[in-house]
Amino acid sequence: MNKRDYYEVLGVSKDADQNEIKSAFRKLAKKYHPDVSKEPDAQEKFKEAQEAYAVLSDETKRKQYDQYGHAAFDQMNGGAGFDFSDFDFSDIFSEIFGDSFGGAFSRFSNFGNFGGRSGKARPTRGSDRIMRVDLDFLEAVNGCKKNINLDVYEECDECDGKGGKGEKTCPTCHGQGTVTSEQNTLFGTFMTRTTCHTCKGSGYTFDSTCSRCKGTGKVRENKDLEVKIPAGVDTGTRLRLAGKGDSGSNGGPNGDLYLEFRVKEHPLFERDGNDVYLELPITITDAVLGCKKEIPTLYGNVKLSIDSGAQTGDKHRLKGKGIEDVRTGSKGNMYVVINVVIPDKLDKKQKKLFEELSETDLKTSEFKKIEDYLKKNK
Ligand SMILES: [Zn+2]
Ligand SMILES: [Zn+2]
Repeated sequence: MNKRDYYEVLGVSKDADQNEIKSAFRKLAKKYHPDVSKEPDAQEKFKEAQEAYAVLSDETKRKQYDQYGHAAFDQMNGGAGFDFSDFDFSDIFSEIFGDSFGGAFSRFSNFGNFGGRSGKARPTRGSDRIMRVDLDFLEAVNGCKKNINLDVYEECDECDGKGGKGEKTCPTCHGQGTVTSEQNTLFGTFMTRTTCHTCKGSGYTFDSTCSRCKGTGKVRENKDLEVKIPAGVDTGTRLRLAGKGDSGSNGGPNGDLYLEFRVKEHPLFERDGNDVYLELPITITDAVLGCKKEIPTLYGNVKLSIDSGAQTGDKHRLKGKGIEDVRTGSKGNMYVVINVVIPDKLDKKQKKLFEELSETDLKTSEFKKIEDYLKKNK
């Protein structure tokens, strides 16, 4: 393979001065830095530019190159071109990318596998995930087991989460994970230590980026989880499943998975916190004469006695027949709310009986108020 001319790589002329060389390299580094570039061959282009800059920015090496071409460095690096792994790029990189690097997600990093060199990139906890889960009313009340299917990020098994193959010491920081740069100010020279931009603090880079995870070290995996959902959850309740979120980076712990529930309505029961309401329709005769009714509860059917003279809106409390509190386990109450239904269709016999009934006096004291008022204002 023919190696490209260093001047050609940087896109400068043979007599370019140091400022032109520097600014040409800055442009290329911005474009191809593997941490920021989306170009498919960014890594190769970036290395090529680094090599060219390492030679041309050094007047001695530049002279050697001008005289002998690539042959000038062939012997020192087995014909692989100039070895720039000892070249310090930290100054120019901190100029380009700034000194502070978040590094929340490390592209070229994995801990644990590299013993002594680890401890540079910060272990980062995986992301929390939230999933909405639909439950039937009784599933929420009684608790249930659910199969949850979700996509989470897991460590890539192709590269063991490293993000690439053929790892080698980072040429920018020489494996330190950090770079030290000098800043000259009015008050003197300051040394600042920052996370290495090339390797994002891991201390190494790769010959090739992992094709499976595209260098992230993570892949999306579809997983089935069987989850035990406790009794008493309601719409909006969140259940935390520790460590079931995305996998961490650099040996950091996994994130958590949160399930947020949405509970469907029940055809009969209505929920209010841990209390449950049942509307019970009764006939006019049951209301007048009193009755015993079989009613459903969350815990089986029961008989409810309704005294004579029942009214719409009357509430019967069934203590402890409500919903178990998801935290304390104590139970709410059930309320049966009476609804006296007036018939709008009567058969002949019923009509006759009502007519007979209407001839009797059914008026209670409540009726007197209006009658008295009408009399006064005639
Ligand atoms: Zn580095
Ligand atoms: Zn991978």
